[in-house]
Amino acid sequence: MNKKGVLIVISGFSGVGKGTVVKKLIEKYQYSLSVSATTRAPRPGEVDGKDYYFKSVDEFRSLIDYNGFIEWAQYVENYYGTPRKFVEDEISKGHNVILEIEVQGAMRIKEQYPDAVLIFLTAPDARSLKSRLEGRGTEEAKVIAKRLKRAYEETEDMPFYDYLVVNDDLETCVEHVNAVIIAESFKTSNNKEYIEKTKNELLEIRKEITL
Ligand code: ADP
Ligand code: 5GP
Repeated sequence: MNKKGVLIVISGFSGVGKGTVVKKLIEKYQYSLSVSATTRAPRPGEVDGKDYYFKSVDEFRSLIDYNGFIEWAQYVENYYGTPRKFVEDEISKGHNVILEIEVQGAMRIKEQYPDAVLIFLTAPDARSLKSRLEGRGTEEAKVIAKRLKRAYEETEDMPFYDYLVVNDDLETCVEHVNAVIIAESFKTSNNKEYIEKTKNELLEIRKEITL
């Protein structure tokens, strides 16, 4: 079946488990993952070109000037952007592409790609979100506080998402996100070529019928 690639946006509060869920999802189901550019410093273990393209502010600005991003946003103290070329190439190949981005970027994507599916990940409750973020141990207390404040603001945009998925048990969450992606890929709007092909095939058969 000749399906159109689905653009899947995954957002959620800092520390909710986006990175963890997306990593498992990709390992299990081999979706294409867009690697973003950022001006944030790498965390221990993060690899340039795999986790992010780590850029200076000047490099990031020139990418903006060259129309290199399909969306970009400032989040807390850094810039983040989705490189245009990878996403456009993958979609044109009919692949499903995952963007793990924050809410302002997600809204920009929705404007440009109305068929994109927007999934918002949440934790079972706000206290467990806080302890996940603290437990990750990658940000100092001041940055954690800013990210939690930002999480409160991000609730304003939650109603604009198509789906809300709770990341309580990790494996269950991965399956729920995948269920959304599969359902989206079966939408008639993502299968227009198949409809056209079936119509042409039936036209051929109709010509053969001599009643
Ligand atoms: P995000 O990418 O949303 O900022 P991470 O994927 O880095 O979040 O996860 C934040 C922390 O929460 C990590 O220490 C991760 O191991 C942990 N975590 C992720 N998913 C779960 C889950 N379902 N239950 C408990 N802890 C989780
Ligand atoms: P972190 O610093 O924790 O990796 O990411 C901070 C926030 O930036 C997260 O909400 C993450 O989803 C978001 N983010 C990562 N890449 C992009 C991107 O390309 N564009 C936008 N708008 N947000 C991004």
